[in-house]
Amino acid sequence: DKGLEKTKTNFFNKMSRAIAGKTKVDDEVLDELESVLIQSDVGLKTTIKIIERIEERVARDKYMSTSELNEILRDEIVQLLGENTTEETNFFSIPKEAKRPYIILIVGVNGAGKTTTIGKLAKRFVDQGHKVVLGAADTFRAAAVDQLGIWAERVGCDFYSKGMNTDPAAVAYETTQYAIQNNCDIAIIDTAGRLHNNKQLMAELSKIKRSLSKQIEDAPHEVMLVLDGSVGQNAFIQAEEFTKATDVSSLAITKLDGTAKGGVVIGISDQFKIPIKYIGVGEGIEHLQAFNKRSFVDSFFS
Ligand code: GDP
Repeated sequence: DKGLEKTKTNFFNKMSRAIAGKTKVDDEVLDELESVLIQSDVGLKTTIKIIERIEERVARDKYMSTSELNEILRDEIVQLLGENTTEETNFFSIPKEAKRPYIILIVGVNGAGKTTTIGKLAKRFVDQGHKVVLGAADTFRAAAVDQLGIWAERVGCDFYSKGMNTDPAAVAYETTQYAIQNNCDIAIIDTAGRLHNNKQLMAELSKIKRSLSKQIEDAPHEVMLVLDGSVGQNAFIQAEEFTKATDVSSLAITKLDGTAKGGVVIGISDQFKIPIKYIGVGEGIEHLQAFNKRSFVDSFFS
């Protein structure tokens, strides 16, 4: 898996060094493991949880070889991820029984990769035969509106915009109206990612959500938070802020190709209990993967 190459090399090399010349898992090995996990951005809470679980197993079994450690660590991580992710789902098409149009609201700070992720996702949906419209409700930045329009053109899907400095809730409302009138299967709505004030963010997102549910009672059907996986602990802070501001139902974690610290995926999943649906592994249109916990964990260890 090319996209996670850096994380893989980093983790694997550090782990190999940590256990080199050792046959038995002892306190020293566990200390090393702890620091490798922290350096990989797993986060302190989740790291401690993993170490404690391994300590329990060592205590129970009286002995653990370092060659067993990889296997056991892998199981523990799969379990941590497994509590919040589904194993085998086709995230690139919407469920047959889902109501149409299916409305996805995208949130996240500027620069996290929202626009790019929306473009990549739209491409996959279109490839599956879905009719898609992108709504430009990040009306704060001209570039955001333009970029989204460019993606729509590239992907060959519909695009709804009222330009810059228009009311985001109105754009969201009208995008939904457009989707209904034009028989779209899916509407993906971009929002502004200003984070200077959580109350304001909360108010803005609530207003957008209310305007969507005026059209379709249970819309948005999904609120997806896009997080930059390469900013380490900042990703945790952003997740904290956005989950406080609104009900986030899914995650996309981007830029995992650009970091050696893919452990952020494990920590975020453990601490926020929100399913990770997608990971971004490059800037190209094809560089979006449906998150699969097993292949993700494999990429750490092999
Ligand atoms: P937005 O402000 O949240 O809409 O962010 P953009 O979609 O404009 O992305 C910001 C930058 O990150 C752009 O240069 C993207 O090409 C880049 N980017 C987005 N996703 C990925 C990814 O998965 N990997 C890499 N390497 N770059 C990405």
